[in-house]
Amino acid sequence: MTAITVKQEANVKSQQGENFSAVHAGPMAQLDSFQLEHPRMKRTITGKLFVRDLLKLSGMQFSMNKLPAGRGAPFLHQHKANEEAYIFVKGKGQMQVDGEIIDVEEGSIVRIATPGKRCIRNNSSDDLYFICVQAKEGSLGDDTFGDGIALEDPVNWPA
Ligand code: ZN
Repeated sequence: MTAITVKQEANVKSQQGENFSAVHAGPMAQLDSFQLEHPRMKRTITGKLFVRDLLKLSGMQFSMNKLPAGRGAPFLHQHKANEEAYIFVKGKGQMQVDGEIIDVEEGSIVRIATPGKRCIRNNSSDDLYFICVQAKEGSLGDDTFGDGIALEDPVNWPA
């Protein structure tokens, strides 16, 4: 199986440690300074920042998105292996999954299984901001409190 690499000129500040990666992508209102070429559709997408490579993510991908008023994806899509969660952080818009319309706004989260035929649009008069997370469907084991390990180490912050 060949992974399709998304080439993206991302000029973001980053910070690395042995066990962490951090990026500072700037205000979400300036996400339209990021562009990428869709590798199969030969078109430029503006306002979407994929962070997998920047963060060295190994079990998920996500993108930070700004969808201007009146804009939308011009096609439906499905996924082969990854479920998606769209987390809406500001604005209003609509998703459709298998023809069903879902009105979304700040605080809405929409999870879509791999075969769901999906699309998104911003039918409002303000910008719509969302984060789209992808992870392999069915891969999650124990989560949050079951997976976390509380440590005895003291917590020290700089004064
Ligand atoms: Zn997708």
